[in-house]
Amino acid sequence: MAGDRTRVGNVEILACNDGMLELPVQMVFPTLAAGAMTPFNQRYPQTVSPQGNILDPMGFYVLRSQGKTVLVDTGIGPGPIEAFGGVRGNLPQELRRQGVKAEEIDVVLLTHLHPDHVGWNLTAQGRPTFPRARYLVHRADWEFFTNRDNWKLLPYPYVESCVLPLQRLGVLDLVTGERAVTGEVTTLPTPGHTPGHMSVLIASAGQRAIVTGDVSVHAAQVTETDWNTAFDGIPEMASETRRQLLDRIEREGMIMIAGHFPVPGIGKLVRLQGKRYWQAL
Ligand SMILES: [Zn+2]
Repeated sequence: MAGDRTRVGNVEILACNDGMLELPVQMVFPTLAAGAMTPFNQRYPQTVSPQGNILDPMGFYVLRSQGKTVLVDTGIGPGPIEAFGGVRGNLPQELRRQGVKAEEIDVVLLTHLHPDHVGWNLTAQGRPTFPRARYLVHRADWEFFTNRDNWKLLPYPYVESCVLPLQRLGVLDLVTGERAVTGEVTTLPTPGHTPGHMSVLIASAGQRAIVTGDVSVHAAQVTETDWNTAFDGIPEMASETRRQLLDRIEREGMIMIAGHFPVPGIGKLVRLQGKRYWQAL
């Protein structure tokens, strides 16, 4: 086990978990044939609740690189979030556990604008939780999620409280393409789950890793790249992006970091009897 602190070259990666969602398989994968998940439940027992639901951690990561501290995603927020079973996030405790202060964060990199990735952006008073940080969002996600016509698709009105104020507060940086956050950390557009979904490429001292956001929400999708979830906004693009990115990760032998995979979500890709799987480090 890598534990929840690891290094990729000179980049330190601190894994945190804002909390656990429990979701029925039929909600996440509505079109899946009965029994299709069984082999993955056996391979990834941490993803199955006693009731047979999917246990879905909400991981987020702190990267320390070249004197900068980068936070990748901000969890679901303090809650309780009634739309998700009354869940309460615990980002502040997790940062404290990892020895990270909110004032240290230079960049908040939001992989996408779904509610389980932006929840701690702002305080209850509507101030930035990370007072020195710039908040990076892909322009296509900003345009989609701030368009009121799309709000009926969202489970609760979190965009108004957690996302829209970033612009008025003057802390928002909209990005497109590949954006160097440090000399070792770069955004990589991976659209499909949402229009502007981004992954985060880490390359340092000959080692490479990628934080894949929600390109794959369940570890089964590393093997079955054409399995989309109900949360994939543009399904065909999501599965094409997933196939291409997973092929690249495997080809280049990169470490794959995924916040919804078994905690702490840091692993590598392996081949077993011809099939590709994610395996915790
Ligand atoms: Zn998510």
